Amino acid sequence: MAEKDTVMETEEKEVVSKNFIEQEIDKDLAEGVYDHVQTRFPPEPNGYLHIGHAKSILLNYGLAQKYGGKFNLRFDDTNPTKEKTEFVESIMADVKWLGADFDDRLFFASNYFEQMYQCAVFLIKKGKAFVCDLTAEEIREYRGDFTTPGKESPYRNRTPEENLKLFEDMKDGKYRDGEKVLRAKIDMASPNINMRDPVIYRVAHMAHHNTGDKWCIYPMYDFAHPIEDAIEKITHSICTLEFEDHRPLYDWVVRECEFENPPRQIEFAKLYLTNVVTGKRYIKKLVEDGIVDGWDDPRLVSIAALRRRGYTPEAIKMFVDLVGVSKANSSVDYAMLEYCIREDLKLKRPRMMAILDPVKLVIDNYPEGQTELLDVPNNLENPELGDRKVPFGRELYIEREDFMEEPPKKYFRMFPGNEVRLMGAYFVTCTGCEKDENGNVTVVHGTYDPETKSGSGFEGRKVKGTIHWVAVPTARQVECRLYENIVDEEKGKMNEDGSLNLNPNSLTVLKNCFVEPALAEGKAYDSYQFVRNGFFCVDCKDSTPEQPVFNRIVSLKSSFRLPK
Ligand code: ATP
Ligand code: MG
Repeated sequence: MAEKDTVMETEEKEVVSKNFIEQEIDKDLAEGVYDHVQTRFPPEPNGYLHIGHAKSILLNYGLAQKYGGKFNLRFDDTNPTKEKTEFVESIMADVKWLGADFDDRLFFASNYFEQMYQCAVFLIKKGKAFVCDLTAEEIREYRGDFTTPGKESPYRNRTPEENLKLFEDMKDGKYRDGEKVLRAKIDMASPNINMRDPVIYRVAHMAHHNTGDKWCIYPMYDFAHPIEDAIEKITHSICTLEFEDHRPLYDWVVRECEFENPPRQIEFAKLYLTNVVTGKRYIKKLVEDGIVDGWDDPRLVSIAALRRRGYTPEAIKMFVDLVGVSKANSSVDYAMLEYCIREDLKLKRPRMMAILDPVKLVIDNYPEGQTELLDVPNNLENPELGDRKVPFGRELYIEREDFMEEPPKKYFRMFPGNEVRLMGAYFVTCTGCEKDENGNVTVVHGTYDPETKSGSGFEGRKVKGTIHWVAVPTARQVECRLYENIVDEEKGKMNEDGSLNLNPNSLTVLKNCFVEPALAEGKAYDSYQFVRNGFFCVDCKDSTPEQPVFNRIVSLKSSFRLPK
């Protein structure tokens, strides 16, 4: 009896933790609508992918995995105007990097142009599609609006024979762009405007990146997409909410084209983030206006930018899981993404010493010319990361903010007369400082106690402050880049004229930083915790062995708390 209860309990829990898409899939499988699960991610190669796409990729890939099904990467490249091979390559790299394995399941919608054409011919023969000579402007007028029903096109009742001939002529290049279109024959009085005889094929004398000049007619998205899904035997075609009103047309296309086991569209809410720009259109504008350094500028949330900044696929996955899948649009706090990368890196990465705003500390009683190599643990919370050797000597760099001549209350770092621990080294007592003619501190002085070496078991007394340092002779000078939100959310992302409300301080470049020598050996994308200063990553574009460049991924502290 007890055993049975436990089983029921876990079963119940499982049901509760499933998102609404999984519940729909369970139902379809239980009712025999489908006997397998097949999903896809269908990007249009007209830009780089961003964090919102990552959500869609991981959702679709995750479902395929959970149900033992398949996942396709399919380029939705049916519009020849905006698409570029550069984007095809970046998208493939990003999807792979996220860990969504598509193996040999890589498809291009443009390879289905012939089948799409045959579907159109099939509809014409059934009397479900017609060639229309109205101009784009007239079609819009005839369409009506939410309150007015549409008016039928005078060409609506052409015979299938006539339509077949005209459609073939369209294909054979006998008409100019816009001169004729093929329309589905559905219902001009439908309350859903998408169903008012939508255009399904247009003439466009344009070369396509994959098919070249083979076609001068191209299918419209609402016609092409369901056919692509059906050809690939997709079961659950997951898309974002703006397509909800298009679902009746999606269903009409797969039904009237008489596909067996047609796919089913399910919509979820897009992911939006505060303080950043998602949306290809806006990212593209920042890139084109030269406000950012390309699609992978670390201030952006394109996947390439997140990778360059130092984000890991694991952190992005954690973020997407935390956000969940929903039917209601909302914005997620950017701080949640930062929380995820901190959580992911905190035990995995060594904690190294780097000084971002240096001032010299001279330990006057440390023998001149002497150096030693100290064993410093890489991560106190994760002993598996081991120790490293850090050079120590008489002259060190410390952070300027770690010394104050006249400290406020509760300041436990260096001030005259105070003793602190130098991380992984000795106790030092501050004895004073030197200043330049403007009163700026140029050198801090102190004396050390040789008995207090870290790891020696010294227990004579305690100090309240520990500061980090880098030995001067072996220090490497590096550049560090600190980032802030690219748009100012508090004042609203947009200005009244529709331009983005940019934060002028989104990038700070520090050129006079000093790091322990081991850090200069980092390769592109290697990341570390810099004690007290945050997590940093070697920049993949600008860092060289001679002049290392680090991007701050995220600072260490945040007031962000996970929502319960
Ligand atoms: P954008 O609005 O940024 O231009 P898009 O929707 O035009 O993006 P596509 O390449 O057409 O980009 O989209 C590929 C897939 O990614 C689609 O299934 C789309 O619904 C999904 N997607 C796009 N943006 C988001 C987002 N913010 N959150 C979740 N999924 C998204
Ligand atoms: Mg799009």
